[in-house]
Amino acid sequence: MKFLDFHCDTAGECFLQQKPLWKNDLHIDLSRASSFSAYAQVFAIWIPDEKRGDAAFQYYRAVLENFRTEVQKNAAHIAICETGSDLQTVLQQQKTAAVLAVEGGAVLGGCLEKLDQLYRDGVRLMTLTWNGDNEIASGCFSETNGGLTPFGQRVVDKMREKRMLVDVSHLNERGFYEVAERLGAPFLASHSNAKIVDNPYAAARNLTDEQIRTLIRQHGLIGINLCADFLGNNGSTGFDAVLRHISHFLELGAEHCLAFGCDFDGCTVHESLSGIEHIPELFSYLLQHGISEPQLENIFFENGLAFLIANL
Ligand SMILES: [Zn+2]
Repeated sequence: MKFLDFHCDTAGECFLQQKPLWKNDLHIDLSRASSFSAYAQVFAIWIPDEKRGDAAFQYYRAVLENFRTEVQKNAAHIAICETGSDLQTVLQQQKTAAVLAVEGGAVLGGCLEKLDQLYRDGVRLMTLTWNGDNEIASGCFSETNGGLTPFGQRVVDKMREKRMLVDVSHLNERGFYEVAERLGAPFLASHSNAKIVDNPYAAARNLTDEQIRTLIRQHGLIGINLCADFLGNNGSTGFDAVLRHISHFLELGAEHCLAFGCDFDGCTVHESLSGIEHIPELFSYLLQHGISEPQLENIFFENGLAFLIANL
């Protein structure tokens, strides 16, 4: 089967735990991923909210260097893609197509020129915030309810100019709508679920129906997050919870803008979803529970590929 995923924290964990990308005990490694007939993965470098200014940028560079070394060691199996045509070429070569992302606009330290550096480094997607405030906007757990700052507005404009993907996962609602209006173009929530779950984490992080409709209208993309807190509660955080979210998204008309952003190596998942090797079992479960094969092929791969080709 083919699989495309919009968010994982594997690059950071490989760096922090000094684990190899080929074979490890994390959620993702390339040896397990080689069972897919095609596989594309957005690898995010997460900037923790404790890191600001130069410390944020230095941490990003350290994770990036480590990841590049791992990619070089595994050059027969993976390549970093910067354009839609790179993606198509690398997938034809039966390699993992990697796209670089940064999760947390704090990496810029309030300096617009750093965005050029990220672009030169091959980064093609940036999640504007993590949970707290930064120079660009306010995250979903911030109490300030800030919108896009003047600097944040310049960042969004420049990302659009450079064809970098603007990611609103973790952003608060006010920021979400300001980004939607300012861009007037496709953007994505790389790893966000629907607000149909009753716990405080999900209430802050998941998307309202109106946000989902806005993403559909702007030909955006939503990646389904497998994080237990965002999928459900009271023990229902496995395959059935994923089905519930997909059904809700489909009811709202998201068939062509739904994908996965599993959040592997960045969160706690149900044991039935505890690594990329479980993805084919999830596909089978959803097929047996009423989601059609063409819909599943769209969600697991085709929608994401079309989005990247159209917008990179
Ligand atoms: Zn995240």
